[in-house]
Formats: sequence, structure tokens, C-alpha cells
Amino acid sequence: MFTGSVGEMKIKSTDAMRVLVVEDDDFQRNLMLRLLRMNNVVDIEHASDGIKALQAIEASDAAFDLIISDLDMPNMDGMEFIRILGEKNSAASLVITSTWNETFLSSIQTMCNAYGIEPLGVLQKPITNDNISTLLRLLQENSQPTSEVFDSDAPSFSLDEIMQGVRENQFKPVFQPKIDLSSNRVVGAEALARWQHPEHGLIAPFAFIPILEQSGKINELTFSMISQSAIACQAWANVGLEIDVSVNLSLTSLTDTKLASQIYDVVRASGLRPEKMILEVTETAAMTELAPALENLARMRMRGFGLSIDDFGTGFASMQQLSRVAFTELKIDRSFVSLMLTKREARAIIETSIDIANRLGIKSIAEGVETARELDVLKEYGCDLAQGYHIARPLSFDDFVAFCYSKRGTNE
Ligand code: C2E
Ligand code: MG
Ligand code: MG
Repeated sequence: MFTGSVGEMKIKSTDAMRVLVVEDDDFQRNLMLRLLRMNNVVDIEHASDGIKALQAIEASDAAFDLIISDLDMPNMDGMEFIRILGEKNSAASLVITSTWNETFLSSIQTMCNAYGIEPLGVLQKPITNDNISTLLRLLQENSQPTSEVFDSDAPSFSLDEIMQGVRENQFKPVFQPKIDLSSNRVVGAEALARWQHPEHGLIAPFAFIPILEQSGKINELTFSMISQSAIACQAWANVGLEIDVSVNLSLTSLTDTKLASQIYDVVRASGLRPEKMILEVTETAAMTELAPALENLARMRMRGFGLSIDDFGTGFASMQQLSRVAFTELKIDRSFVSLMLTKREARAIIETSIDIANRLGIKSIAEGVETARELDVLKEYGCDLAQGYHIARPLSFDDFVAFCYSKRGTNE
């Protein structure tokens, strides 16, 4: 069964933060404690090496928000400590301090990423008050809602159960921000379906989308998602957030030639202009009924909707699809993004995809961006947009609005 919920946005004030300082040098440790207190942090613990730090974490009732750790320490050094934090899936933000030079610190950053940890900062000693206040501000800005929690022993649902949930409006979109890589601003949101089951909690798409598609019943969910997403997008515009919304379309829906007009009617009923909505379609070799699919896609484009080719690179007919549908966006599949730092082949596919998008005059977007390094390389390659856990998880409507405002604050 799946249980859990979309978390609440919690931005902590510094006096509510819990911080652990790991430093063997008495002078450096006392300096750090003094600087933290000067910045109104009151809940501080300290340890002189990795072993004592792990003991402090084990013994603590409440989780630490921030761990500031030295690298060079006796007994257990910072590298081993970081590896164990990664193994424990620590949720605390990590800051590394060291007297070593920038090149060395950059390799430590890469090592952290390889262990699944994204450090909030890597600081060269001596630490200044400016360093600490910047870090604490970053920590507040980075406060993310806790991830969605899906229980792994989910029952499989019957079509009847799913359809009843659809009729009772138990399916809601969550919104994952899409940012423009040149301005860092949120320019769009992908609406992803979640089933808020009255008994089983939050259910992820793979437990209901394939069943709805196979039984030819996906359209009811599609129209509900389009309508709720259009209303959300209009509500963002009303509070000054000029943001597009993307909705996923199943290919099976495209066989009905009335689809485009029905989608247009649902969107117009919410007051939203179709130009604000992008419809994401995955490429597939099995576009069995090609002609009606092409008719629908052409009509949607004519009506003003954006069209995105989702999971680009994973299907068999990507290039052919690109040449026959007037897509406005090419979405690079996350399997390439997750391998881009280690596999030359993945990098080549990403660079080529961005190049194709440029030549066709359409936007390129990378999905599944999980680290700062991936984001930097995508910027270097000239990718237009990005989406992924490093930027933000899929968020509830309220958390999404809060996230857009917090991003604005940092860029204006
Ligand atoms: P998708 O359209 O490719 O959506 C992206 C998926 O990647 C989402 O999974 C999202 O939560 C996940 N994701 C985003 N960033 C990251 C990241 O940094 N790392 C990793 N590992 N994953 C990331 P989700 O929500 O489970 O959706 C899965 C798929 O279900 C979607 O893939 C889409 O094909 C389908 N889907 C979701 N909602 C709908 C819907 O309303 N209608 C239809 N037809 N399909 C939907
Ligand atoms: Mg998608
Ligand atoms: Mg995708």
C-alpha cells in the first residue's frame, strides 16, 4: 500500500535551526560556534571527529537541519563521515570546511555527489561571519517540502476502483517547476497526476496510468488533469506569476479525432489561453493509428497549445516523429541526464538533442536534473530549460506558489 503525503513548505527561522559542527581544532570550532550564535542559531551541538558526530546524530531525538564538517580530522575523517551520511540517506544540509585549495574542494564536491549528497556549500577556512550568514540564508531558501512518500507494498487497483476515484475527484495534479537556465526563473510547471486515496494515501502514476490506458479509459483522468491544471495556471497569472503549465497526454487518447476540440473546450472554460498550456506526448514506435494522432496534434498546435516531445531519445521513431509533428519543445529523457557526468555516450546524446532543438527553433528541456554539476553542464551545452529534484520536487499548488516567490526573491 502507498501511504504518505505531499509535505508542507517549512521555512525555518535561524533560531529554530538545529546545527551540528564537526571540527577537531578547538580554535576553529569555537570560532564557528560564536559565528553561528551571532546569527541567532541557538540549538548547536559539536563533535571533534566523524565518529563522535555519528554518535551525536544517533543520540539526537530531532534531526539536524545543518551539518558543518571539517575534512581533516583524527579517527574518522570528513570523507568517511560524508560517505556514511550518504549511506544513511541523511536529510541534513551539509557544509564542508577546509584549508585546502579550490581544486581539491571541487573534487570533494564531486565525491559528495557520487555518494548521493549535494553539499549546500564548500568553504575555505578561515570562516567569516559573511560565510555563515550567506549559508544560513541559502539554507532557508533551499527549505524544500519533504518528498512525497509512497509505500512500496501497494495493492494493485482494479479498473473499477480507479474509475470510482476519478469520479470522486480523488486525482489531483502536483506541479514540478521548470526553470529557464539563463535567468534561473520559474517559467513553467509540469502537472503530474497523484491519487489521494481515502484509505491508502498517496498513489503514484504507475499504479493507475497503464491500467487506464490499456482499458481505453484514460480520457476522464486526462480531462480532469487538464481542467485542474488550467485553473491552477490561471490562478498563478492572477497573482502575477506568468507561468506555463504542461500536461501529459497518453498516445491512446490521440486516436479519437474529437480529442483536440474537447481539450480546447475544457481549457477555454477555465478562462486560460491555450498558449499557456503545453501538451506532452511521448514518442513511441507504436503510434498505430498515425493519421488521427497527426490530425489531433496539428489541430492542437493550430489552436495555440504548445507541444512537447517527452522522454526524447528513448523511443524508436524520435527523428521521424520530429519531422512530422510541429513540436515546440524537446524534452531530453532523464536516463541520459542521470548518466551525463559519467558516460560520454549520454553526453553526446544530450548535446545532439540540444543541437537538433536549436536547428528546429524549438526549446530544449532536460528532465531529472538531480545535481548542481548536471545543471552547470547543461548550461554549458546551451540547454534552454531544466526540471528535476535538484531544482524542486513535484509540489502541491500552495508549495509551488511559495517556491516561485522564493526564487523571485533571490533573482531580483
Ligand atoms: P514524465 O512525464 O516523464 O514525468 C517525469 C517523471 O519524473 C515524474 O514521475 C517526476 O516526478 C519524475 N522526476 C522529476 N524529476 C526527477 C528527478 O530529478 N529524478 C527522478 N528520478 N525523477 C524525477 P511521476 O510523477 O511518477 O510520473 C511518471 C510518469 O507518469 C510521467 O513521466 C508521465 O509519463 C506519467 N504521468 C504522470 N501524470 C500523468 C497524467 O496526468 N496523464 C498521463 N497520461 N500520464 C501521466
Ligand atoms: Mg512529462
Ligand atoms: Mg519525461
